[in-house]
Amino acid sequence: MNGLPGYNKKCRCLKPHNMQSWEINIKGLVQGVGFRPFIYKQAVKRHINGSVSNTNGGICIQMNAPKELAEEFYQYLSSHSPANALVTAHSMRQIGQQHFTSFTINESIEYGKPDMMLPPDIAICPTCLSEISEKDNRRYGYAFTTCLECGPRYSIMTGLPYDRMRTTMADMVMCTHCKDEYADINNRRHHSQTNSCPECPIPIKWYNSKGEELSIGATEIIAGIRNVILEGNIVAIKGVGGYLLVCDATNEIAISLLRKRKHRPQKPFALLYPSLEIAKQDLVISELESNALKGNIAPVVLCKLKDKLHTSICKELVAPGLNRIGVMLPYTALLALVASAVNVPLVATSGNLSGAPIIYDDEEALLYLTQYADYVLTFDRRIVTPQDDSVMQFITGGQQIIIRRSRGIAPNYHSNPFYFDEEIFAAGAELKSAFTLADSNNLYISQYLGDQSDYGAHQSYRKTLQHLMEMLQFTPKSILVDKHPNYAISNFGRELGDQLQIPVTEVQHHEAHFGAVLAENGLLHSEESIMGVIWDGTGYGDDHQVWGGEFFLLEAGYMSRVAHLDYFPWLQGDKMSLEPRLSALSLLCNNKMYFKEALQHFAEPERVYMEKLVVQPSPLLTSSMGRLLDGIASMLDVLHVNTFEGEAAMKLQALAERSADKSLEYYPIPRFRNRLDWNLMVQEIMQEKLDGIPVSRIAFKVFVSLAHCIGQTAKGFGVNKIAFSGGVFQNALLVDLILHLLGKDFQLYFHKQLSCNDECIGFGQLARYSIENSIQIEKESLHLQN
Ligand SMILES: [Zn+2]
Ligand SMILES: [Zn+2]
Repeated sequence: MNGLPGYNKKCRCLKPHNMQSWEINIKGLVQGVGFRPFIYKQAVKRHINGSVSNTNGGICIQMNAPKELAEEFYQYLSSHSPANALVTAHSMRQIGQQHFTSFTINESIEYGKPDMMLPPDIAICPTCLSEISEKDNRRYGYAFTTCLECGPRYSIMTGLPYDRMRTTMADMVMCTHCKDEYADINNRRHHSQTNSCPECPIPIKWYNSKGEELSIGATEIIAGIRNVILEGNIVAIKGVGGYLLVCDATNEIAISLLRKRKHRPQKPFALLYPSLEIAKQDLVISELESNALKGNIAPVVLCKLKDKLHTSICKELVAPGLNRIGVMLPYTALLALVASAVNVPLVATSGNLSGAPIIYDDEEALLYLTQYADYVLTFDRRIVTPQDDSVMQFITGGQQIIIRRSRGIAPNYHSNPFYFDEEIFAAGAELKSAFTLADSNNLYISQYLGDQSDYGAHQSYRKTLQHLMEMLQFTPKSILVDKHPNYAISNFGRELGDQLQIPVTEVQHHEAHFGAVLAENGLLHSEESIMGVIWDGTGYGDDHQVWGGEFFLLEAGYMSRVAHLDYFPWLQGDKMSLEPRLSALSLLCNNKMYFKEALQHFAEPERVYMEKLVVQPSPLLTSSMGRLLDGIASMLDVLHVNTFEGEAAMKLQALAERSADKSLEYYPIPRFRNRLDWNLMVQEIMQEKLDGIPVSRIAFKVFVSLAHCIGQTAKGFGVNKIAFSGGVFQNALLVDLILHLLGKDFQLYFHKQLSCNDECIGFGQLARYSIENSIQIEKESLHLQN
């Protein structure tokens, strides 16, 4: 009818002629994103009878239709999908004759090994956001409002395929209203698995710091929380992937108290703004940044502070010494209700014990977070997979830098650049850990899982790994670990390999970084030579030294280290990463006058020891760019001892950005064969400081020099393509300068979906392994030919 293909125009009966049965399979991110209702609507519109189900392979449609109509429907589904979906593959085949009397959404089919992307948690959508603020809406003020297009997914999933019965909402029964919405094809909540409302609510609860529940109605709780926050209290609020600690960002006493209780004197806090409009009063927010803030990930975005702030946030307490602040917008209905009730920016930081992973279990929250928080706001929907908020920033040109890859992004990666015929577990790195699972079709990259030398973080890593492996029915046949002999995470991988009696392959840290950025840019098998600039804090080198300022070349599939920062003594082990003054001392130990200067930053009794220490031959050397920048930060009196990881680098960048003089002069960093000599630069820095050149100017010149040095080195090796990885490239100023100075002469490659820091190592281990394997295969085939 109506000219739809396959219907006989002459015949007036509704029954289509030449009916055949078909099956369409759709793969990718197709569950938890409203795909079945979308298909249902399209099928009904075309008068197609059949069914659609979630399966362990994605989505499966079986239907009866004439060939022409089936093809038109298939074509439509190949080019249209719901907003949050991502189709990676689709197919249609004819099947044996089926009998259908209507089109239905069927029970999920669980058999077979899962082969799909998992739905990430999706931030509250604009429609749900407006519903909770409309007085006559039945979800007015309802803290757990979600729809087909938004709400928790990955964090509450207990199994696959995605359906309410395999989430932590399984036992919650929908009220008649919600059931009607669920069944109504024209409703925004048609088949929405996380559906609930004030008539079938998720119980919300409020506790004081003694762990006593304050009995009060759901609607009064938000008003109560508003009052205690405005009175200067700290509140732990349950979010999507764990608890947040929240207080009034305009209240000096409250923030100081939070800093004191958390033993966190300097590390910047993120701010939760009630709305984008209010955030724009304090921060310079570009279109890209505002799209990210309002988008379905809704991460923390590092934005530049305006010279003049309009709200009265306590800037120096929120982010001491920094000119960028992490900002986010409410990503759940509960956070939106609290933020708009308070109507001032809130400090919002992960609820964890110092150094430990985010707390997500309700009992633990009441047990531990009450040390920091005066009140706990929680609810009865269990979190299965803990996740911190994702963090990103954008450089001037618009390029995105991911700093923490977690809520809203994990655990998917699209598309899989590797071709493995076995299941591989890549354990990742120690400090910013994240593991990767790869099979023949899919790639899963876990959320950021913290520092693996911490017991709690390691437990969280194991739980996440086990949960994901169970859901995906994943049994590794091979394990990849970082070469470091003492990484807890590498030892875990080695032990697991022993236990399962499967091979464990060690991958050098910086080669994994290089592999990661190559794989992300589709360059693993590049014919043309590519230089890898891999700069970070530390990594265990092939010569047993501490690497971190490395230049690699990929040539004809072979990866080799071709140059590095000249070695300097690695003083006092891990303490060197915490104390930039040790790096300064090490860098200046061959210059009597400047060395004396650097010694000033140690207490009297330590000085004698330090003087003795540096004249002894150091058993361990480093080429770390992170430590070189630390040393320079100390030389410029930015700071001498870190209070948190990466503090010196962040503050050195902030200082450089304040420089009034942004001319592009640079310090010399000459290369002698494979060594880049930083000596001249360091001496000129000290001289210019003595000459009274502003330290901000010197700091700016340092970053220009690094960008320039990359260009010189690349020219020296005759390459046109440069790829960048390692935590140093989180520095937006450095990336800006690299693009500006080298963009014309070179093709530059950065990470896209992944962070340049050690969170990319698991993925990079797979990349390195894949290069090695294809070389192996080539060698074998050569051998056979001979
Ligand atoms: Zn929604
Ligand atoms: Zn309901």
